[in-house]
Amino acid sequence: MSVERRVVTIDGPSGAGKSTLARMLARRLGFRYLDTGAMYRAVALLAQMEGPDISDGGLQRILDEFSIRFVTGEGGGERTIVVDRDVTDDIRRPDITARSSELSGDLRVRKRMTELQREFGKRESLVAEGRDMGTVVFPDARAKFFLVADEKERARRRCLELRGAGERLSESEVLDQLQQRDQRDRSREAAPLRPAPDAVIVDSTHRTQESVLAEVLRILKNKIPELEF
Ligand code: C5P
Repeated sequence: MSVERRVVTIDGPSGAGKSTLARMLARRLGFRYLDTGAMYRAVALLAQMEGPDISDGGLQRILDEFSIRFVTGEGGGERTIVVDRDVTDDIRRPDITARSSELSGDLRVRKRMTELQREFGKRESLVAEGRDMGTVVFPDARAKFFLVADEKERARRRCLELRGAGERLSESEVLDQLQQRDQRDRSREAAPLRPAPDAVIVDSTHRTQESVLAEVLRILKNKIPELEF
């Protein structure tokens, strides 16, 4: 007998707190957390290794050979393995952040990532986090959330994250980059960043992660009463 796989989607702009929420939610539900931003970042890292410009053929080869795994590392943290190489730290570099945003508008990249993301969904129940999870990749997801937060607060959170990773950027520089990235994600033709019509919008401005998680769990209990957590 086949086991029903469930998908909960969390989309939204950068820095809205999606990944923390998605991780906490996945742990609580016993689902796999799928970080789709890491997938776009991994493609960008491979492209960056080929140089600033990449030919159509070069990008196609990267996509054809692309494989990604998420494994638990020694300290218990999640590690991202791409074609047998641990890229967890490299994909967070600012140059890769910018390149991933550029490449994510490419239709071939989106098509390949969408296929891979759906494969993850066939294997396990997921909390899938990204920009187009509810609109394109999992339109039939059981529950969809779109997380938003005030722009300044998003920049401040992102700044703290970057400092944690040893990057020193001012809040206004981070805000600038974040606005550019969001603008590009919103205005691209392929799978633009926007809430699915049936997504619940959750605002995380000035709220703790626990309070956002509690709201999401309350909504989930109503939408999927049989869910146990
Ligand atoms: O979420 P994260 O910042 O890691 O994503 C990196 C970039 O990948 C985003 O700026 C966005 O352009 C792209 N992305 C996307 N669709 C997704 C996830 C990420 O286009 N589902």
